[in-house]
Amino acid sequence: MKPDVVIVPCADYSEEAARTALEQSLAPLGGLDWVSTGMRIAIKVNLVSAARPEQAATTHPSLVCALVRLLASRGADVVVGDSPGGLYSAAHVNRVYAAAGMKAVEQCGGRLNQDFTEREASFPQGKVCRRFQYTAWLDGADAIIDFCKLKTHGMMAMTCGAKNMFGAIPGTRKPEYHFRCSDPRDFARTIVDLDEYFKPRLTIVDAVVCMEGNGPGSGTPRHMGALVAGESPHKVDLLCAKLIGLKREEVPTLEAALERELIPPSAEELTVEGNPAAFAIPDFQLITTGNSHLFRGDGKNPLIRLKGTAMEKLLSQRPQLDPSKCVGCGVCKGVCPADAISMVKGKPRIRRKKCIRCFCCQEFCPESAMRVRRTAVARLLDK
Ligand code: SF4
Ligand code: SF4
Repeated sequence: MKPDVVIVPCADYSEEAARTALEQSLAPLGGLDWVSTGMRIAIKVNLVSAARPEQAATTHPSLVCALVRLLASRGADVVVGDSPGGLYSAAHVNRVYAAAGMKAVEQCGGRLNQDFTEREASFPQGKVCRRFQYTAWLDGADAIIDFCKLKTHGMMAMTCGAKNMFGAIPGTRKPEYHFRCSDPRDFARTIVDLDEYFKPRLTIVDAVVCMEGNGPGSGTPRHMGALVAGESPHKVDLLCAKLIGLKREEVPTLEAALERELIPPSAEELTVEGNPAAFAIPDFQLITTGNSHLFRGDGKNPLIRLKGTAMEKLLSQRPQLDPSKCVGCGVCKGVCPADAISMVKGKPRIRRKKCIRCFCCQEFCPESAMRVRRTAVARLLDK
C-alpha cells in the first residue's frame, strides 16, 4: 500500500542530491510510471515574489529542474509556472522567473509558462469558492504537480502544499479574495476549494531550506535537509506542520481539510515512509498567530472560551511597521485589499478599523519592514 507521505533526506541543492531525493521520495508513491509520452504536466511552483533562491522564499530551481528532467525523460511536455503577487503580466512574471533562477528550467527540457490569460471556473461543489477566475495555463494539463516550499505565513501560520494552489488565482485578483474572506477560516476554506478543484496529482515540498520567522516573503532561511512528497497536499501539510512545531489547530487550512475529512485528526495517524523525527526542528521560529486561540477548542483558559468579535479582536495579530527598515516604496499601500494604508510623510499608516489582517502588506514588503505582531492579550494567554 502507498504511504500517505514520504520524507527523505536532501542535504543541499546540488544536482545529484536533488535527483536522488526526488527519485527516493517518489518511488514509494509508485514513481512516475503514470507519465507517458506527450502528456502535458504543469508544475505549480511557489514564486511568491522576485526573490533569489538563497532567500528561501521560492521553490528552489535545482529541485524543479531535477523534476523536469525526470518528466521530460518520459516524453512529457512540462510547463512550470505560478502567479506571484502583483500584475499577472509577461513582464512581471518573467522578472520573477529570472530572479528565482527558474530560467534554468528551459535548459532542462521544460518550458516556463508564457500564457498570462485568465479563465472563469464554476465549481458548485465548493464550500466558499464556487465561481472564480484562475490562470489559464493550468487548463489542459493532464496532471498538475504542486511543488511548494515550507514557510511560515502571517495569516495562515504556514504555507506549504495546500496554500501553494492559491497561486492559481491571478496576482491582481488575490486581494479580492483576502477582502471577501477576512476570517482566516473562510480564507482557508477557499484554499481547500481550490485544492479540490485543481486536484494536484502529486505534492512535493522543498524542505531542504525552509523559511522561518517573518515569512512567507521576508523570513529567515532555515536548513531542514528534507524533501517531502505525497498525493494529498493536506496530508503532506499535516506532517510538515508537525516538523516545524505547529499544531493542527493552529493552521487554518488543516482545520478546513479536517472539516471535509481530507486528513486524520493528527499526524500520528498518517502512514509515513521515512523518519520525520530526524528532520523536525523544535525551535523553528513561527509566526504565532491569533489563530491558535481562535481555533483551539480545548478550553484550558476560560477567556479563550469566550466567543465573538470582541475576543477575536483582542487575540488577533496585527501588522506592525518597523520604521527603521521602511523605505517608503508604497508597495504595501498598493497591495492592501481593504484600502487601510495611507502614506503619511513617506511612511505607511495603517487604519486599524479598516484592516482585515490579511497580511498582504507583510507578505509583499520588499524590505521586511512589516511584521506580524500579536496583541498583548494573546501574548499573556500564552504565558
Ligand atoms: S512596502 Fe515596506 S518598505 Fe515599502 S512602504 Fe510599505 S512598509 Fe515601507
Ligand atoms: S493593512 Fe496589511 S493586513 Fe491590514 S488589510 Fe491592509 S494589507 Fe491586509
